[in-house]
Amino acid sequence: MLEITNLHKSYPIGDSSLHVLKGINLSVKEGEMVAIMGSSGSGKSTLLNIIGMLDEADSGSYILDGLPIKNLTEKKAALYRNKFLGFIFQSFNLINYKSALENVALPLYYQGMNRKERQEKAMFHLEKVGLADWATHLPKELSGGQNQRVAIARALAANPKLLLADEPTGAVDSKTSYEIMDFIQQLNDEGKTILMVTHEDDIAHMCKRIVNLKDGVILEDAVIEQVRAKQHV
Ligand code: ADP
Ligand code: MG
Repeated sequence: MLEITNLHKSYPIGDSSLHVLKGINLSVKEGEMVAIMGSSGSGKSTLLNIIGMLDEADSGSYILDGLPIKNLTEKKAALYRNKFLGFIFQSFNLINYKSALENVALPLYYQGMNRKERQEKAMFHLEKVGLADWATHLPKELSGGQNQRVAIARALAANPKLLLADEPTGAVDSKTSYEIMDFIQQLNDEGKTILMVTHEDDIAHMCKRIVNLKDGVILEDAVIEQVRAKQHV
């Protein structure tokens, strides 16, 4: 599904630069649920944004579902994003003047689907996250957890091959965090490939594999059974 080799990324800072990713190697297979962990500023979002084609690496190779991702025009990147990826963000990133249903329907508009089909499909996904009764409500009328579920429905509307989540539980209380994680786990059980960033141990432990980012490299990459076994030594 995803193959990253020797990826580097620096940000220019005045006359010098900040080398954030220093040779990342990562491969993810279809059906996996992977957490990218690391302290604040370790480059988790930078890596996820490159994977999501929201940003570009300086060097290295990135292959997504057999397609080399390099020097894409904005148009092509948008096309690939629409075709392959769903995004969930910490701050939901919903459009505040659109209803829950309209937010979920938006990616389908970009896929060229007609209005009736968009509404039906969006409603199907809202039902799936348990929010059918809230379809006509605006984001400000919903709780944080409900808004994140709308965002999840939106991310799934276009049936992406890969779901990318950056701190999806970062803006909600811990009870709601677990509800959101239950939901994300359920999606993975249904076969969706999921890559999520978190700095919280207990959230990462709900994934099947944990990749630990430190000082620009992957310090550790282990399946959850290995992680648990190591912690109990
Ligand atoms: P994380 O998500 O792990 O907290 P980030 O990937 O957001 O880390 O950031 C990694 C480092 O790169 C941080 O030191 C951050 O300040 C810096 N950084 C992130 N984005 C930019 C940018 N657009 N320009 C300059 N520096 C940035
Ligand atoms: Mg971040």
